[in-house]
Amino acid sequence: MSIEQGTFVQKYDLLGCIQCGRCTGGCPVTVRTELNVRKFVNDTIEDDRLEELSEKPEIWDCTTCNTCALRCPKGLDPFEVLLGLRSMRAEEGNIQPTARDALESMFNNGNPWGKPAARRVDWMEGIEGVEKVRILEPGEKADVLIHICCTAAYDPRIMPLAKNLVRVMEAAGVDYGFIGVEEKHCGSEARRLGEEGLFEYFDEENTELFGRFDVNRLVCLSPHCMNTFKNEYQNLNLPVMHYTELVAELIEDKKLELKNEIAAPVVFHDPCYLGKKNNIFDEPRYILSQMPGVEPLEFLRSRERSLCCEGGGGKMWVESESKEQRLAETRIMDAKDLGAKIVAVSCPFCLLTLEDALKVKGLEEEMRVADILELLGEAM
Ligand code: SF4
Ligand code: SF4
Repeated sequence: MSIEQGTFVQKYDLLGCIQCGRCTGGCPVTVRTELNVRKFVNDTIEDDRLEELSEKPEIWDCTTCNTCALRCPKGLDPFEVLLGLRSMRAEEGNIQPTARDALESMFNNGNPWGKPAARRVDWMEGIEGVEKVRILEPGEKADVLIHICCTAAYDPRIMPLAKNLVRVMEAAGVDYGFIGVEEKHCGSEARRLGEEGLFEYFDEENTELFGRFDVNRLVCLSPHCMNTFKNEYQNLNLPVMHYTELVAELIEDKKLELKNEIAAPVVFHDPCYLGKKNNIFDEPRYILSQMPGVEPLEFLRSRERSLCCEGGGGKMWVESESKEQRLAETRIMDAKDLGAKIVAVSCPFCLLTLEDALKVKGLEEEMRVADILELLGEAM
């Protein structure tokens, strides 16, 4: 990255910072890593320190959970400074091999998981009660265009979420369609791993792709894709929603009936990109409350104060140096203390990180982690 005088100062409004420390005070990863975001906001004012700061391993500990931005009294986005430093490393190709592989796969295959683009539709096989997923032709009309997400399309643990999303659409009579093999990565994780140029490529590609269809709204399975399409794409002229928003609407309009019991105490874990980033707190809770038998519980740290699972911000491909207990494990222990039998989520990354934590803690017999889409599949 060519560093011009005051690059970071202007881009991130660093002179607006009053060094109050509320960002670091709220940062969930400070309990297990060296990251001090306030200090980075202070130190990046000096151009000649940017190279040195970009080499600090803790810039990769940030999960981009947005807590620091919510806490900042001056309206700054402190974590963006860390993404700026990451992009200096990425531009030189000087990043962890796992992150480099993910970025290469995004460019070559349209997904970070090293899987061929042609297999993006494998999840469509064998959906209970659904003969055929509707693939839209260019120019075709539909109310809802569904976006499945790379993780749901390829990860066998997450594929059931995509299947259940289609089951919900069919059961509620939604006029929906899917892109098919041409669906590709949203660019969110490219940007968070420091590859701004690759993100811009996906912005242009996907905007053109979505523009081929005559649809009223884009409904995303993952909050990460939703956030990027909704808040970061430059010219996407299409309303973007998370699936929980649409499902809440369908239940309210009595288009989706939930009749089977899920008799269990259930606690909802707010995904950062749904809650803290996009203020979607009520819809997932409403859906759970409409499932027969569900006894809703709340974490002490919930909604804006929710604890991050550490799956966002490119962290699925970057290992932290810290050996301290992962936040996902803390979350699982909090759920156990509450007496929850189900930890409900609405994000593929949260599902993977929390389920992993459940196994690490040896609590698979006592409780389970489930996406709301899986619970809907059981309740319908
Ligand atoms: S919360 Fe905002 S103003 Fe306070 S130290 Fe952090 S960036 Fe600066
Ligand atoms: S985004 Fe979250 S993890 Fe990153 S610095 Fe801010 S509070 Fe910490």
